[in-house]
Amino acid sequence: MKITRIHDLYFKEFVSKNEISRIVKDLAVQVKNDLPENEVPLFIGILNGCFVFAADFVRVYKGDCEISFVKLASYEGTSSTDKVKKLIGVNEDLEGRTVVILEDVIDTGNTLQEIYEIFKSKNLKELKIATLFFKPDVYRKELPINYVGKSIPDSFIVGYGLDYNGYGRNLPAVYQLTTQPKMKNIVLFGPPGAGKGTQATILKEKYNLVHISTGDVFRYNIKNETELGVLAKKYIDAGELVPDEVTISMLKDEVEKNVGVDGFIFDGFPRTESQAIALEEFLAEKGEGINGMVALEVHEDLLVERILERGKTSGRSDDTDEEKIRNRFNEYNTKTAVLKDFYDEKGNYHGVDGVGSIEDITERLSEIFDKL
Ligand code: AMP
Repeated sequence: MKITRIHDLYFKEFVSKNEISRIVKDLAVQVKNDLPENEVPLFIGILNGCFVFAADFVRVYKGDCEISFVKLASYEGTSSTDKVKKLIGVNEDLEGRTVVILEDVIDTGNTLQEIYEIFKSKNLKELKIATLFFKPDVYRKELPINYVGKSIPDSFIVGYGLDYNGYGRNLPAVYQLTTQPKMKNIVLFGPPGAGKGTQATILKEKYNLVHISTGDVFRYNIKNETELGVLAKKYIDAGELVPDEVTISMLKDEVEKNVGVDGFIFDGFPRTESQAIALEEFLAEKGEGINGMVALEVHEDLLVERILERGKTSGRSDDTDEEKIRNRFNEYNTKTAVLKDFYDEKGNYHGVDGVGSIEDITERLSEIFDKL
């Protein structure tokens, strides 16, 4: 399923580019077939939504035609109570013409009715309506619609000229809103040794979230000598990242194991841009997303000290060997640090000073968690 984020919401593909193209062609053929042989119709597109449909429609219409666009605007009449609707853009002399109104989508039919009445008063030869999409469940008018490309249920659609808050008109396919996100999903971010694990253990209780640490899952698998553990061991021992496909599929399995939860704290994932994209897409398929990346910012020199200290008790070989530790930082700086920009561009990055007592840092993180 193709998922796309528009502004702050996720949408799934509803009518593909190819299907739209077939529908538009069919409509053009039907309209042409119903007109007298040499009739030159005037197509009138209702702005803004229909501009893409109208442009594609006239290019597959086989015959002479004219095209014009109108917009319905309301303005105050002479008396203050008097709201008048006016069509802007009709300059042609319409008397005796065959006019076909092109609409992108007809739902209640209110706008259409007003436009129809205005054209009706202009002594036309014939007035017809063609719409790309039609929502029969919400249509409230008697007006016959001569050509319907596709009848659709009453859901919010966007793309192919249709917008959400002004965005999405340029998408070549039509998308439908996925379900509203219900979970709180947070990426706890920071270099190795920043304290992600410690803080996640506290915050998961406080916010009733499931903590997924990819490092812990790998170590569990290594300990139990699973196939995954054997594969991951050589990378982890060298302080290198485990390949994306392995890590991504493991992460998905971990998420799937937890049905109906309030959300997740992702600790140690994503660590590459492909992982970040995979995570977004995977959550979007469920109508969910990442509420934010919360990062513990700590200087590297301090981190090496911390990790060596931790190595005395953690039992992790990648915590005791300084060369491996340096390698982990190298991986972090070359592959993971860029994720700051990835989330920052979406306004989703929140940095916190990671130096101080555990309680103080929990406090700082909580301030952000509360807002996400
Ligand atoms: P951590 O416990 O988060 O420090 O992770 C320990 C090691 O597990 C890392 O150095 C990597 O080798 C591996 N690892 C953990 N998470 C990931 C990930 N998202 N992508 C690739 N490798 C990972």
